[in-house]
Amino acid sequence: MTLFEKIIARQIPAEILHEDEHCIAFRDISPQAPVHLLVVPKKPIPRIGVAALDDQALLGHLLLTVGEIARKENLSEAGFRVVINHGPHGGETVPHLHIHLLGGRPLEWPPG
Ligand code: 5GP
Repeated sequence: MTLFEKIIARQIPAEILHEDEHCIAFRDISPQAPVHLLVVPKKPIPRIGVAALDDQALLGHLLLTVGEIARKENLSEAGFRVVINHGPHGGETVPHLHIHLLGGRPLEWPPG
């Protein structure tokens, strides 16, 4: 069971902001911005680069959910960033697909 499956199963506590049939969103334990959320599919796809055609609707749902949460968190006007880390060079540390939603301050580009 991945760490995020344990959060979904309520075996590990998290500040959950959204849950539906397909995904869950909760606050990152180590926030890198005033708002830092993770949107996670309930299906434990390890990382974006191994998602399959079968996951097309799910991936669309995750992005639409990110947009919905960003609006609820009042990030739309000032802006926000959406990040998916894949593998060691991408900075992935949890092998269960997750989308970072970061906002609440200006974010630099390019990333480090
Ligand atoms: P990654 O580095 O794989 O893209 O992102 C994993 C994220 O999960 C990190 O930002 C990290 O802070 C977060 N994280 C790791 N363990 C926990 C946890 O137990 N609870 C929560 N809410 N976030 C976690």
